[in-house]
Amino acid sequence: MKNNQVNLEVYNQMYLGKLGELTLKGSNVKVFEKQLLTNVKYALSGLPAKMWLSSGRLYIACKEECCAAVEYALDHLIGITGWAKVRCVEKTIDAIKAAVREEGLAAKASGAKSFKIDARREDKAFELNSYEIAIQAAGVLFDDNTLAVDVHHPDAVINVEVRDKCYVYCAQKKTCRGLPVGVSGKGLLLLSGGIDSPVAGYRMMRRGMKVDCIYFHSYPYTSEEAQKKVEDLAKIIGQFGVETYLNVIPFTQVQMHIKSHSPENYSTLMLRLCMMKCANLLAPRTGAQAIITGESLGQVASQTNENMACTESFAEYPLYRPLIGLDKEEIINTAEFLGTYPISILPYEDCCVLFSPRHPVLRAPVEEAKRIYDEMKIDELVQKAFDERKIIHFSIQDSIKEQFGQ
Ligand code: ATP
Ligand code: MG
Repeated sequence: MKNNQVNLEVYNQMYLGKLGELTLKGSNVKVFEKQLLTNVKYALSGLPAKMWLSSGRLYIACKEECCAAVEYALDHLIGITGWAKVRCVEKTIDAIKAAVREEGLAAKASGAKSFKIDARREDKAFELNSYEIAIQAAGVLFDDNTLAVDVHHPDAVINVEVRDKCYVYCAQKKTCRGLPVGVSGKGLLLLSGGIDSPVAGYRMMRRGMKVDCIYFHSYPYTSEEAQKKVEDLAKIIGQFGVETYLNVIPFTQVQMHIKSHSPENYSTLMLRLCMMKCANLLAPRTGAQAIITGESLGQVASQTNENMACTESFAEYPLYRPLIGLDKEEIINTAEFLGTYPISILPYEDCCVLFSPRHPVLRAPVEEAKRIYDEMKIDELVQKAFDERKIIHFSIQDSIKEQFGQ
């Protein structure tokens, strides 16, 4: 779809998103762009909004009543570096000046004292070059002292882009960047109620991965609140990740069996191995080509090189640990940005905590771990737990419907 196919009198609010990394990827660009557009269309389906791509820009034209929903979708859209609400005007210098004046007055009203114009002329047939556009447009704010010009540290940057039409905008919101979700296949995220795993999922989504989630629940040792917490986290994963399926695996019997059949110091590690076995069962069902965890080197006893080698030896798919080299503060910063942090720190116990041994093995030899695992004869219980899984779907589309009621 092109701009001239949309009735801009009806769809009279306009947004522009900037495609970042996408513009660098040669022949893949078309695939990536198509995915980005598919993702936005999915998010805003059923709303009075039209969207299209043109020369490195995402355009959304909508009716006034769905501006809030569009902004929410853009804030969660992975694959753009920023977005702005823009004024779309005719391709004449007078129309540009009028729009720049409006933007300048709005910036002044919100406290700006200085500005600069950043002009771009994509359409080389336009009568003025970008320098001339900037000079003429700046005059409408500078000549009567509305704002001072400051090209180095302006309070407001007013952008003018001359394309099929002219787009004028000031405030630009930075967003998630990354590659559009869906261009890098699917990963299966081991999602606990903690701080780390949602961040790990987000990191992989930023590399274009679609993410489904698997959560091991040991009711009544882990409460219903603990599961609710994981559902709330999965909901956020579904907002940034377009959609996600949360698979809840009833793991009580598996945990009880470990408690009675494994040496105490190996119990946490055995639980990890059972989780991995179960993830192996689920991955082909959801179409996942990789397994993702929120592990970070040295963070807890199960996350030493040796113990992670044991877990890894049980994974039948590539095992991604995007947080491996991050410290807690870096992880928390991302969790705060995502909005998962306040949920993750709610006090409901996670099954691993309740069954934690006093002195967990720190450097388990892989062969020894395998031997203990085989002796437990637990595969059937893992299969049974897998067969009894419950699946819950979350998506940006549902979140938008829920919040904006359209
Ligand atoms: P998190 O903050 O993500 O809970 P953590 O630092 O508490 O991580 P562990 O409890 O050792 O670390 O868990 C390591 C990883 O194992 C988690 O990041 C998660 O990917 C996975 N995991 C742990 N418990 C569960 C669970 N109950 N369900 C699903 N995955 C889990
Ligand atoms: Mg945890």
